[in-house]
Amino acid sequence: MALPAVVNMRFGVIAKIARIRYNIPRNTTEEISLMILMLQKNTPEPAIRQLLAQLSLQNVKGGCVAGDNAILLPLVGETWRLDPSALQALPFVIEARRLTPAYRLAGRAVHPENTVVTVGDAAIGADFCLIAGPCAVESAYQMDTLSRAVKDAGAQLLRGGVFKPRTSPYTFQGMGEPGVDLLVQAGRSTGLPTVTEISDASQMELLSGVDVWQVGARNMQNFALLKALGQARKPILLKRGAAATVEELLLAAEYILSGGNEQVILCERGIRSGLTAARAALDVSSIPVLKRLTHLPVIVDPSHAAGRADLVEPLALAAVAAGADGLLVEVHDRPATALSDGAQALTPAQLTQLAEKTARLRAALE
Ligand code: PEP
Ligand code: MN
Repeated sequence: MALPAVVNMRFGVIAKIARIRYNIPRNTTEEISLMILMLQKNTPEPAIRQLLAQLSLQNVKGGCVAGDNAILLPLVGETWRLDPSALQALPFVIEARRLTPAYRLAGRAVHPENTVVTVGDAAIGADFCLIAGPCAVESAYQMDTLSRAVKDAGAQLLRGGVFKPRTSPYTFQGMGEPGVDLLVQAGRSTGLPTVTEISDASQMELLSGVDVWQVGARNMQNFALLKALGQARKPILLKRGAAATVEELLLAAEYILSGGNEQVILCERGIRSGLTAARAALDVSSIPVLKRLTHLPVIVDPSHAAGRADLVEPLALAAVAAGADGLLVEVHDRPATALSDGAQALTPAQLTQLAEKTARLRAALE
């Protein structure tokens, strides 16, 4: 049975009714979290009272509206703690639906202003940010060459993986510990803050000298890792899983935020569609959607979506046009010899050209 039209009322109207019903002052900054339950019309009153009493133990208050075909319980309070599918399994409950999202800290209701993550000279979320570097740290020579090229191209941060989550266990897994020093050294000598992937909470100490920790697409729902990063005081670049919805990405960010770490940057890097000619389908529409739903910065990695160097620039420009707060781009001085992701690596000259085109596009859009 479909929910009655009242449920589809605009959120603002429902929030207004809830403010009046629960005496929440109009000028309060407290956000209103709402859910609605639809019960069978013959639900006995004691069952409704018991349900509301149980909900009040979870800091959720509820009203009761008896309709001709069903009984509606509008719920207000800490509804983000409730699980609609668990509620739906209760006797007499026909449907449970959230009217406000479960990612309350990542959402704009609690935090309307954009979050700005400051790293070195970069104010990610306020100013456009270019992060570039090799897929993997490979040698001192490579990091020296590339860090200078990245700096000359105008990037604000230097990336380089040392723990590589590769699909096959037989491919290059990253340099590990010795690679950390090479990345940090290259960052120091060029004055660029660094980004690397953290694939396990046990690496936190080893990676403490790196400025931003990246959570890879494969780890977006590694909840033990996300919880550990919530305790850290380090910016986290959280990549969208290749098969994750926008809501799942925001709930993954919520794990970090709810631990007390407010410095989260989201990254769209392409999702699996099975239809695209590229490595993954860059979900350009997720950029304006995320910018509307969340206050967190949204950057885009065109390299992993493209899988081929010639597709990186058009995808990057599409992302910029769609409102991305920055780009994460893979570069290599000799892509043909790269130990990982060489096919999608831009040369330093191509990176410089991309940075220039990006700047022109942003100026044209202003
Ligand atoms: C990477 O940035 O090198 C990487 C492995 O990315 P992703 O997790 O998006 O595949
Ligand atoms: Mn890569």
